[in-house]
Amino acid sequence: MSSVLTDKHPCFSAHAQHQYARMHLPVAPKCNISCNYCSRKFDCVNESRPGVTSEVLSPAEALLKFERVKHEIPNLSVVGIAGPGDALANWPETRGTIELIKKADPGVLICLSTNGLLLPEYAPELVKFGVRHVTVTVNCTDPAVGAQIYGSINYQGKRYTGAEGSELLLNNQQEGIMYLSGHGVSIKVNIVMIKMVNDWHVPDVVKRVKQLGATMTNIMPFIPAPGSVFSGLPQTNMRDVTAVRTACAGDLKQMSHCRQCRADAIGLLGEDRSNEFRSCAQHVEP
Ligand code: SF4
Ligand code: SF4
Repeated sequence: MSSVLTDKHPCFSAHAQHQYARMHLPVAPKCNISCNYCSRKFDCVNESRPGVTSEVLSPAEALLKFERVKHEIPNLSVVGIAGPGDALANWPETRGTIELIKKADPGVLICLSTNGLLLPEYAPELVKFGVRHVTVTVNCTDPAVGAQIYGSINYQGKRYTGAEGSELLLNNQQEGIMYLSGHGVSIKVNIVMIKMVNDWHVPDVVKRVKQLGATMTNIMPFIPAPGSVFSGLPQTNMRDVTAVRTACAGDLKQMSHCRQCRADAIGLLGEDRSNEFRSCAQHVEP
C-alpha cells in the first residue's frame, strides 16, 4: 500500500481531512444482511449517520455527478461507494460505477464500504480494479454476539439466522480482510459499539482484525434508529467510546475524526456539500 495514496485520503489520514475532499456515489441500494441497528428508511451505518440518501443513482448518473463535482471541487481525491445498502450486494452497479470513474479519471482514489459478506467472492476483482481503500464493518468475532446483532444473512439464495448466520458473515469478513490486506489494500474496520451487546468485546475485534492485516479501526457509537430492532437501546456515549479507543490504541491505529457520513456525502469531512449537488446528474446533458 502506497502511503502517498493514503496521504490523500481524508478518512484514512487525519492530516488529509483538512486538505482533500471525498464524494460518495449512492449507487448501491440493496443489502444482503439485516443488522438490528439498521432501519431501511435510514442510511447504512457502515459509513453514515441516520440521514437518508436523497437519491439513488445509476452508474451513468454517478459519472455525470462525479464530473460536475470534480469541476466544482478541484481538491476531490476520493470517490467512495458506501450504500445506502451494501456496495457488494449491488455488484453490477458498483463495478459499473468504478469502471466509468476510473476511465474518466484514472488518478482518483476509489474507496468502498461493505458489510463483508461477499468479500471472498469479489475481493480479487476489487484488487484487479485498483481499489486501494476498503472499509468493512465488523461488530464482533464471536457468532454468539453476532446472533444478537444480525437478524438474518442472505447468502447464495439461502437465508441464515442466529449463530449460524453470523458465523457465516464473520468468516467471510475475516477471509476478505486477510485477502485484501495481503494484496496491498488498506482496510479500515468500522465497529458499532453497542452497550451490553458488544461493548465489552470490542478490544477482541480490534486484536483480531489487526492479525488479519487491517490498517485501523473506527469504533463508532451506536445511535438508535427509529424503526430498527434496537430502537429502544440507549445511545452509546462518546466518553465510553473514547475510553475503548484509548485502550485499543496500543494495538492498532484508531480513527477519531469519523463524521459518520451520509451515503451521498460530498466535500471535506467537516463540511458536507451534498445539498449543492442534489439531483445534478439529472440536469446535465449526457
Ligand atoms: Fe471511504 Fe468511508 Fe471515507 Fe467514504 S467515509 S470515503 S467510504 S472511508
Ligand atoms: Fe443496514 Fe448497512 Fe447493516 Fe445492511 S449492512 S443492514 S444497510 S447497516
